[in-house]
Amino acid sequence: MNILVINAGSSSLKFLMYNMVNEEVLASGRVERIGMDSAILSYEPAGRTEIREVAEILEHTTAIRKVLDILVHKEHGVLASSSDIDAVGHRVVHGGESFSSSVIVNEEVKREIKRLFDLAPLHNPAHMLGINAVELNMPDVPQVVVFDTAFHQTMPAKSYLYPIPLVLYRKHQVRRYGFHGTSHDYVSERAARFLGKPLVELKMVTCHIGNGASCAAILNGQSVDTSMGMTPLEGLMMGTRSGDIDPAIVPYVMGKEELTMNEVNSMLNKHSGLMAISGLSSDMREIQQSMAAGDGSAVLAFDMYEYRLRKYIGSYAAAMNGLDVLVFTAGVGENSSILRESVCRNLTFLGLELDEEANSQRAHGDRVISTVGSRVTVLVIPTNEELVIARDTYRLILARQKA
Ligand code: AMP
Repeated sequence: MNILVINAGSSSLKFLMYNMVNEEVLASGRVERIGMDSAILSYEPAGRTEIREVAEILEHTTAIRKVLDILVHKEHGVLASSSDIDAVGHRVVHGGESFSSSVIVNEEVKREIKRLFDLAPLHNPAHMLGINAVELNMPDVPQVVVFDTAFHQTMPAKSYLYPIPLVLYRKHQVRRYGFHGTSHDYVSERAARFLGKPLVELKMVTCHIGNGASCAAILNGQSVDTSMGMTPLEGLMMGTRSGDIDPAIVPYVMGKEELTMNEVNSMLNKHSGLMAISGLSSDMREIQQSMAAGDGSAVLAFDMYEYRLRKYIGSYAAAMNGLDVLVFTAGVGENSSILRESVCRNLTFLGLELDEEANSQRAHGDRVISTVGSRVTVLVIPTNEELVIARDTYRLILARQKA
């Protein structure tokens, strides 16, 4: 079965073409600057060089058409015909309380995703454009939606409710939803399999540390808490996002600086985090380079980033009354040995002992970086959110065919 995975944004669209017989990636690429006469299609068939094409792509329907054309291109294509695509899987950021797992798209599902536009105004409308564009280009191909929030729907009320008037939850669904669910789900399962232990017997904290960052407390295989909240702003300090701050800062700063709601929102999402404290960059690689060159602001930014992450790990160990496995994933988590070392150095009270040599090795793939005697096993597990989308799509379509 061939499955096309799509992550549609408002002006860009990423795609991966999978052959699910062996979970092989046949091709990948992206369309950028949708809406402009100089949009860019980048396309890489597996094992061959990348191709870039500049074209007028004014909306998502044309973008999908271009993707289908290149996938079946005589010279560069990986499929004989677009009818070789058996299903399409979409990433959808917000599933609210309506979706606790992936589902096949139908009119009701589309209505529900639309109803959730308010909760994810930057993301869900763009995903909807992607779904409609596929429908227009391939009306007979089934589509599946996989939600970033679904994995965290197992959280108990004490984790997902905020201590504010309950009427706001009942009327406006103000609660913690959590994000990066496909990643937390994937790495937790992989960690258990790697260790040869049943996931249901483990107390695990998974740290997805990339441009966006969140951690999750996973008890008996279920997410029981996570650091991102109603939106992906809460929790850890990130590249450009503040993470947790005193909510009273918002009206105070709005008053003092005469900022509008949009301006303060933009400050917290786009001009905070590593970027704001270092004054240099939101990219951890550049922060580390500046630290090595003795830049005090970079050191402070790194220290705050690491400290806030460590506090979350400690609080989740308390939430679960223990910790068996700590997983690092995503761009920073997989690549920054310095960050992992700094975090783990101060978690010895949990019986955690880092193997410094294993941690500093530039290895790829799943690996253990704690000592044999460590009470907490520390793992680096590269995430693969697209594969989760492809697998869920495959599973649901197969089940429907059998039904
Ligand atoms: P992601 O959102 O998962 O793609 O992660 C992107 C982030 O990973 C970048 O902004 C970098 O800060 C970080 N990153 C990537 N490679 C490295 C590295 N070798 N060392 C430290 N940070 C890295």
